[in-house]
Amino acid sequence: MSGFELDVDAVRWRAGLSAVAAATPGLVPVIKGNGYGFGRDLLAREATALGAGTIAVGTYAEVPGALESFGGDVMVLTPWRPFFSDVVLDDRVIHTLGRVDDIAALAASAPTARITLEGETSMARHGLDRHELAAAVAALGDLTLEGFAIHLPLGSSGGKGGNYTEAENWAAALDTSQVETTTLYVSHLTPSELAALGARRPHLDLRPRIGTSLWLGDLGALSVRATVLDSHLVARGEHIGYRQRPMPRDGTLLVIAGGTSHGIGLEAPKAVSGVVGRGKSLAKGSLEAAGLSLSPFTIAGQQRWFAEPPHMQASMIFLPGRAEAPAVGDTVDVAVRFTTATFDAINLR
Ligand SMILES: *Cc1c(COP(=O)(O)O)cnc(C)c1O
Repeated sequence: MSGFELDVDAVRWRAGLSAVAAATPGLVPVIKGNGYGFGRDLLAREATALGAGTIAVGTYAEVPGALESFGGDVMVLTPWRPFFSDVVLDDRVIHTLGRVDDIAALAASAPTARITLEGETSMARHGLDRHELAAAVAALGDLTLEGFAIHLPLGSSGGKGGNYTEAENWAAALDTSQVETTTLYVSHLTPSELAALGARRPHLDLRPRIGTSLWLGDLGALSVRATVLDSHLVARGEHIGYRQRPMPRDGTLLVIAGGTSHGIGLEAPKAVSGVVGRGKSLAKGSLEAAGLSLSPFTIAGQQRWFAEPPHMQASMIFLPGRAEAPAVGDTVDVAVRFTTATFDAINLR
């Protein structure tokens, strides 16, 4: 143990991955950004073990690494743009197109590239309006159409309607259009929505693109631990840190591995605040009044306060009064947002 680390119960985690893959025919694992905390290379190896034929990455910058670490096809979720300088043209790359002008431009510059057409959903992020489908088809030229793609909002609330209705409307639009494909790449449909769509439109080859609920589907298999690097007794009024802030009370100042470079922000992840017990309300009142912020580090069962904003590689945590301080070298629990976390080590055990 040396720093800010992720411990993975590998047997349990992989059992979860296999269960999702088995329950999700056509699965396209999404491997983008920080690799959901695991790093993209590690996930590419897991995708291979799951038998995936295609993975999806976020950007063209992520393509070269993906081609190296994964042997199958690599779909790029960010739509191709003529001004991108890092586009990778390769037989294993599937480009996303969401603007009619771009379809024509790619057809002119890379006539046989493999592509998906993206439809604009209520996300309103990228994609073709359904009235543009005819123009899109006309612009395709010799491009190889691999499928149609839709990206729906998170958490299809709205009861019966929600994402299912929107996906079904797009499936209907696809069926009646001139777009010659029966492959529909979807993002953010629940398993039951996928099943319902598959039953309603059995001729469609549904390809769910899933990241979070695959890689982070079983958080119980993951634990993040931060090492206590140093510990100092402090007195009320004593000035500490970069900002030489006065300490609100007597207590212990802990220096713990994990800072801004690991994705530790001044705000503890919101989802955590409700779950982990916060400091006693009295302590909270006075420490908050003293200008401290709640940290994501949990010590002796309580979420603790930053003595000052996190540093690059470490955080300074204030432990008031007689709260029992962990020893230097001990580890403490820390809640992270996995999509912004970077670990010093990932231990698959
Ligand atoms: C990121 C992304 C996904 C995967 O999202 P998760 O919430 O991590 O499953 C799917 N589709 C698109 C277009 C994305 O950008």
